[in-house]
Amino acid sequence: MKVPGKMLPKIIGFIVRKPVTVLYPKQRLTPPETLRGKMKFHLDRCISCGLCARDCPSAACTMHEIDGKKRPVFDLDYCTFCAQCAESCPKDAIEMTSEFELAHYKKGEAIVK
Ligand code: SF4
Ligand code: SF4
Repeated sequence: MKVPGKMLPKIIGFIVRKPVTVLYPKQRLTPPETLRGKMKFHLDRCISCGLCARDCPSAACTMHEIDGKKRPVFDLDYCTFCAQCAESCPKDAIEMTSEFELAHYKKGEAIVK
């Protein structure tokens, strides 16, 4: 079979190059700090203003009264990880983390409150 001369350097390059992928989940890369994964909610900072729920585009963030205090509850089944809730919060009570492994078996199991 005739190998076109122009392709040969590229083929050799691909053979000797280190793979850009890893054998996940056995091998893991560190996600960037800017990755928008599961949010962390700081109850002590929350003033119950409801801006996070008002601005959430997918209704994943809703206000609930828990232990006598109105506070947001996040349902990750609906969340698009846009971070608008964190952006809207005037008290930095919502922090987006780089936690991205959020698979679960049943609907409603991924709740952050
Ligand atoms: S990250 Fe976006 S979609 Fe998810 S709860 Fe916050 S505002 Fe809603
Ligand atoms: S925007 Fe911030 S302070 Fe206001 S209810 Fe949401 S988490 Fe609490």
